[in-house]
Amino acid sequence: MFNIFTNPNHKIKRKHQDTINEIKVIASNMKQWDNYKLQQQTSKFKKILINDPILDHILPEAFATVKETCRRLFGIELFDVQLLGGIILNQGNITEMKTGEGKTLTATLPAYLNALTGHGVHIVTVNDYLAKRDAEWMGQIYEFLDLATGLIQQNMTTYARQANYHKDITYVTNSELGFDYLRDNMAIEQSNIVQRGFNFCIIDEVDSILIDEARTPLIISGPSDISTDKYTTSNTLAKQLIRDEHYEIDEKAKNVILTDPGIIFCEQFLGIPNIYQLEEPWAQYILNALKAQNIFIKDRNYIVKANEVVIVDEFTGRIMPGRRWSDGLHQAIEAKEKVTVQQENQTLASITYQNFFLLYKKMAGMTGTALTESQEFEKIYKTNVISIPTHKKCIRLDLPDLVYKKEYNKWLAIANECYDMYQIGRPTLIGTTNVEKSELLAKLLDEYKLPYNLLNAKPENVERESQIIAQAGKSKTLTIATNMAGRGTDIILGGNPQQFSKLIIIQTIKNSFLNNGQVKTDYYQSSSEIKDPLDKMINHLKYNDTFKNMTANQIILYTENCIIKHNFNNISDNNNIIHSTYQELYQIYHQNCSYDKDKVIQLGGLHVIGTERHESRRIDNQLRGRAGRQGDPGSSRFFLSLEDNLLRIFGGDKILNLMDTLNIDDDVPIESTILNRSLNNAQKKVESYYYDIRKQLFDYDEVLNNQRQAIYAERNRILNSTYVRDCILEYGESTIDEIINFYIQETNKNDYSSKQTQIIYNKLQTILNLPSEVLDNLFSNMNPQDIKLFLCEQLHITYDLREAYLEQLRPGLVRQLEKYYLLQQIDTAWQEHLEKMANLRESIGWRSYGQQDPLTEYKNEAFTLFINMITYIRETVSYFIMRSRLVIDPDKTIQQS
Ligand code: ADP
Ligand code: MG
Repeated sequence: MFNIFTNPNHKIKRKHQDTINEIKVIASNMKQWDNYKLQQQTSKFKKILINDPILDHILPEAFATVKETCRRLFGIELFDVQLLGGIILNQGNITEMKTGEGKTLTATLPAYLNALTGHGVHIVTVNDYLAKRDAEWMGQIYEFLDLATGLIQQNMTTYARQANYHKDITYVTNSELGFDYLRDNMAIEQSNIVQRGFNFCIIDEVDSILIDEARTPLIISGPSDISTDKYTTSNTLAKQLIRDEHYEIDEKAKNVILTDPGIIFCEQFLGIPNIYQLEEPWAQYILNALKAQNIFIKDRNYIVKANEVVIVDEFTGRIMPGRRWSDGLHQAIEAKEKVTVQQENQTLASITYQNFFLLYKKMAGMTGTALTESQEFEKIYKTNVISIPTHKKCIRLDLPDLVYKKEYNKWLAIANECYDMYQIGRPTLIGTTNVEKSELLAKLLDEYKLPYNLLNAKPENVERESQIIAQAGKSKTLTIATNMAGRGTDIILGGNPQQFSKLIIIQTIKNSFLNNGQVKTDYYQSSSEIKDPLDKMINHLKYNDTFKNMTANQIILYTENCIIKHNFNNISDNNNIIHSTYQELYQIYHQNCSYDKDKVIQLGGLHVIGTERHESRRIDNQLRGRAGRQGDPGSSRFFLSLEDNLLRIFGGDKILNLMDTLNIDDDVPIESTILNRSLNNAQKKVESYYYDIRKQLFDYDEVLNNQRQAIYAERNRILNSTYVRDCILEYGESTIDEIINFYIQETNKNDYSSKQTQIIYNKLQTILNLPSEVLDNLFSNMNPQDIKLFLCEQLHITYDLREAYLEQLRPGLVRQLEKYYLLQQIDTAWQEHLEKMANLRESIGWRSYGQQDPLTEYKNEAFTLFINMITYIRETVSYFIMRSRLVIDPDKTIQQS
């Protein structure tokens, strides 16, 4: 029947229904195949691709192969919406699939298909724990189908990274991926490069990586030798400047502007011609000193503690030890407070996630919440967000917000709600925006004598937190979590029996065989039922040699592997005691959990409490989405107060007035249906504020990115070539070209004088090492074209001589030396360039104020700086060939003099 209320979500499904049906038909035919035949599919596809490289042509059959493999290994039938998600991902889109819809398995479909090309697929996760979990879990599918799975973890050696990046499908976190890229482009030896190009990536929790983390670039830095004197000098200078005469203050934007008389005053004070010169810039120091003195107030914006300046968070009033303001502001405040001015770090390499992920030929992403940010994905990443309908209808009840006048009353109301939920036994998840607030709530719950789990998303707790989150759906469970805690793990009502069984076995083995069994066990339900099989297992293992010569880590790894094998329905190993104990426990827990699940469903499923609106609707939705997965019942409610940051900073006045007019008591909330507009507006303001920051970062980094690509490409060319001689000579020739062109250009000018000739002579002399008589002779008797030819000839001769000399000293030496020298020159010049670009970025803001578009100005100047850097690199390289003398020590170390 024709339905005029067609859900747009279903449109996308209808569009691909034919393909989905085709996959299902093929897959059901495959059920009769034996394992061997199924496994042969991979080599068959690879052969087809040689003649017909269009992946879409084999998509239905390849997806069907994965679907059937998944059924055989895990007993899981992939849903239609998962097949659909796979199709959408393969097209390089972002799929919005709600929590618990099975994105991890969905990703295996396009991953398998694209890996068939042999160019590698990266599956990107937010933390090491998830990368490992997914690699182990999904790796079984790839392994069965004869593809290799790689996993990158922190602290891996270069060699291990290389091996893992060369696997067909590699699981890796965004930060490892980015840093490996930067490190690869700093490598001096080809053998240290770990990555092999950027073919196809699927980013899990894509909003978290491409939006939340995109505000701060990845930076590799090293200690710098820049002196800290400038800060103290600027501090003294700033004290002498007079407000409104020498400088003006924009309080709202927290900015300071120097006036023309102010600039002159500073230049006279410092005895320099220009405070904006990029080689030795002063402006930034002076402005920071002025900001430190006028805008940043002690005991409000920062405190001084133990000879250190510590930031106070503006929104929460919390002190933030270890954090520093950037771009020299922190040092300026240190100078003002007369505490030790700490050294700055120098940036050696940097990139933003925005530009990093654009390196991929094809990029796809998945998350539960992306639609609200679809514009940003389209603009910056040129990728569409497509929402996939849920497998079962979502029946979660999103209750209207409750708004209190005072924050204190809000927290009391939250604690009361927790109490009520606990009494009836409903599992409840309470999301907080930061650690401090979660601790505040924890204290309140202590007073009510309610048990709870407290999670705070610290990297070192990620694994444990995922385990706790997985059990947050058990009845009578209260879980307080900051918003990132346990992301990527879905909450199963009644608890997760697989995880229960696995954890208790690992815990028991740890306790019995290692002395460090410190993991808390309070969230397992111990009973005599499980005690017997566990005791049996330990007794058995004690008389077994298995663990004798293993380290602690090896024991855990061995145990985990035994348990993972359980999932292979075909590979049942009853001779392995760990494995069979796992099966036994699983049966027991499975029964307990499904009993508890029924109970929880009757009570209404998981209840989610939000304690504040977040900086974007997306994060609110992420929290809500924890409840009501796969058609489960569930509910969510946000508790707000007018003292919350969002409302306080972005327009709570209206609401406050309204509440005053209505004469509402502090402990009586209003349901926010009336306030919804104001609330959403406030939130949209914050969203667009952060979007602007990211967009600006992106626009500016794009300029640098083009330069970075050029430099990295040149660097790679050198690193990969075995014969750098041509490159060096090319640099020398370009240098000669440039100087002579400059000469022609200058002599054509009307006001040409002998002074300019002198400058050009000097340059030629320095770089090419030619005596001035020779030059005189050249320039008076030859035309510029001939001079060029002559000089290039000289270049070649000198180089040949030097080469012959070195070759005779030690064969092969010159090639090694050339390469090393070239790379070193490029790296040093590039690092200095990065510093200048940072200075430029800072100074652009002050100079262009009111006139031209700062970005355009930035682009122009950045281009000039880049050309200067290239010229500089070429000149130093030419200088090296023509001038430097090489001294070989008796012990054969080489020095350049
Ligand atoms: P998401 O990342 O979308 O939140 P996960 O990939 O973590 O969800 O999967 C959640 C759970 O659903 C996992 O335990 C997984 O085994 C299960 N699952 C996924 N797909 C299916 C399916 N087709 N049938 C049954 N269970 C599934
Ligand atoms: Mg997931």
